[in-house]
Amino acid sequence: MDSSSKSNFSRPIAAPSPTRRAALKASAIAGIAAHLGRSAAKADDSLPILNRTRPCNSPLNAQAANDYCQSLAPFGGRLSNDIRELFLQTQRPDDLHYSVIVIGSGYGASICAARISQALNPNHRIAILERGREWTPGSFPDTFAHITKSTRQQMMGPGKGQIINPLGLFNLSFNDEINVLSGSALGGTSTINANVALRPHPETFQCGWPSAIRDIETLTPYYDMAARQLSLSRTPLDMVPKIQKRRITAEILNSNPDNYDRSPVAVMYDHRYLDDQMRNQHGMIQRACTQCGNCITGCNVGAKNTLVYNYLPVAKWNGTDMFTQVQVDRIEKRSGYYTLRLTYVDDSEGKITRHPLTINSRVVVLSAGSMGSSEILLNSQQDGFVFSPMLGKRWSANGDVVGFVLKTPDATNVGGLSTCEPDCRWPIGSTVQSTLNFFDRPGIENKYIVQEAAIPRGVANLFSILLRDKYLDHSMVMLGMGHDEGRGEIVWKDGRYQISWPNLKNSEYRQMMFREFDNIASVEGKKYKRLKAFGNNLVTVHPLGGCAMADTPDCGVVNDLGQVFDGKCGGFANKTGQPAVHHGLFVADGAVIPTALGANPYLTICAVSERIAAHFINNPNFADLFARV
Ligand SMILES: Cc1cc2nc3c(=O)[nH]c(=O)nc-3n(C[C@H](O)[C@H](O)[C@H](O)COP(=O)(O)OP(=O)(O)OC[C@H]3O[C@@H](n4cnc5c(N)ncnc54)[C@H](O)[C@@H]3O)c2cc1C
Ligand code: SF4
Repeated sequence: MDSSSKSNFSRPIAAPSPTRRAALKASAIAGIAAHLGRSAAKADDSLPILNRTRPCNSPLNAQAANDYCQSLAPFGGRLSNDIRELFLQTQRPDDLHYSVIVIGSGYGASICAARISQALNPNHRIAILERGREWTPGSFPDTFAHITKSTRQQMMGPGKGQIINPLGLFNLSFNDEINVLSGSALGGTSTINANVALRPHPETFQCGWPSAIRDIETLTPYYDMAARQLSLSRTPLDMVPKIQKRRITAEILNSNPDNYDRSPVAVMYDHRYLDDQMRNQHGMIQRACTQCGNCITGCNVGAKNTLVYNYLPVAKWNGTDMFTQVQVDRIEKRSGYYTLRLTYVDDSEGKITRHPLTINSRVVVLSAGSMGSSEILLNSQQDGFVFSPMLGKRWSANGDVVGFVLKTPDATNVGGLSTCEPDCRWPIGSTVQSTLNFFDRPGIENKYIVQEAAIPRGVANLFSILLRDKYLDHSMVMLGMGHDEGRGEIVWKDGRYQISWPNLKNSEYRQMMFREFDNIASVEGKKYKRLKAFGNNLVTVHPLGGCAMADTPDCGVVNDLGQVFDGKCGGFANKTGQPAVHHGLFVADGAVIPTALGANPYLTICAVSERIAAHFINNPNFADLFARV
């Protein structure tokens, strides 16, 4: 094993000297104040901002990049293909370029591409089209300046919300009541998520889900398949001291000890899943987690099991072409196939240029995420290509609520100082390590969870100012997830798609979560705090719905197998009276989830997508695609 990959979480590291601190403080405050649009003079002098304004030049970053390229050496060191292949294919517009095209590369997309390519007859071709870049591990942003540069939308001012950087990693949708953060990259939001893999309470599926999935047991084998592929584990008990402290909090709040547990996460904590060459079950070289706490701005160590380390390599080994920087604008229905209208975003000469393209495929799987898949279908509505009137509706924020506790008596260590830099004083841990659930309350609407999160290095300075906590070692960040009513709708407003959900901010659900945050804070002898700096809007990182699954087209957009309902004639076939579907058009991602899950959603998105892929492969109407020659 390479010694540099060993985690040094148990090593206490001295705090920086006062003179060094002063120098770092001055430069960091100036940088942050400039970004916040304030003068440096106004920033609080008493805050010693650590060395977080410069990129962390740890050798681990370079090692992660090398590992990635070495793992993918048979493909030229990358997963993505040369875009010129796509240009050449579009020379003859009526050709059937691919048998299957998958739009997006998040959980739903990667699973469908992996499973379909494994079963596909070699005479047929499959491709992924992803609008974001391929980010090499080691290159993810870890300073505030790099994070703001990597955001797709303008963050402030009159143009707030407009896309100014189409290849940015952080996709932020600003809306009246709730803002939405998701990832835009090969690997989808797995690149910037906290990787917690939870199964929801079984009661979740009993209302609002298609009848075939109302029993969680239907999904259990698919949950298990995904858990195996993602190599889930739990933070070892001796790694992060606060895991034990939160158990005490949980015990004070709850009588049931089963309500608190370490969360399953897709993180390489040790070498259990790696062979003696550090390769995982999919042939990708990975390293052990350094406990740096930066998971949600991208893992630069190669320890987080994002999709580029598992499902996407499986798809690649089985012949899937992967084109990045390609945005699908809309789909047109032809006789027996679909035409996709695309925009290739080229940045190769230091400036952005856009190239329109078209490509044809017999089967299209939309997996562009809750907002992305819904928007593509909304753009595609026209005579002859009609969807359910529920398109864009039944959108849920998964009951996400964020709260803070300030000046906790015990150390919390939530600031992503990163164990790879000299200022590090203690392990932060991966973003989330444990979950407190309130599943023993009666009624699904009262079942929710609360997790404690870490703040990544790149925004740690900002939060230490906002929370007035020098080292971010006496604050708590609480993430609540529960059952909102899913009454959001994706609508066209002011030249872009937005979420409309009147009065969400004042909902009874939100008040209930605030009361629970207060209870938790009171165990620490404090009150919870909302950060007014971000306004009163809710923020979600778990958008769900928009193409909800249902038994019939009057309730949803796809059936339980992800097939898109044909909205013509009220959505029912004339002869059989059964719901009619667009043959060969599927949605498989967070867009199909019809209700809030009250738990981190990606494992459920995985299970549902595994099931959609399995049924597609066994569908007799597509038998010729999978028959072996
Ligand atoms: C900060 C953060 C932390 C999170 N932590 C967790 C967690 O701990 N546990 C958990 O379960 N969930 C977490 N999530 C949410 C989780 O990652 C998402 O629910 C999940 O990734 C959604 O999967 P998906 O397949 O629906 O789409 P995504 O993973 O969002 O992928 C969609 C992809 O489609 C691409 N795309 C969109 N539109 C187009 C288009 N028109 N053309 C081409 N490509 C397009 C996007 O660029 C993106 O790559 C977190 C999210 C964030 C932002
Ligand atoms: S804490 Fe997260 S970002 Fe840091 S090494 Fe571990 S998995 Fe990667």
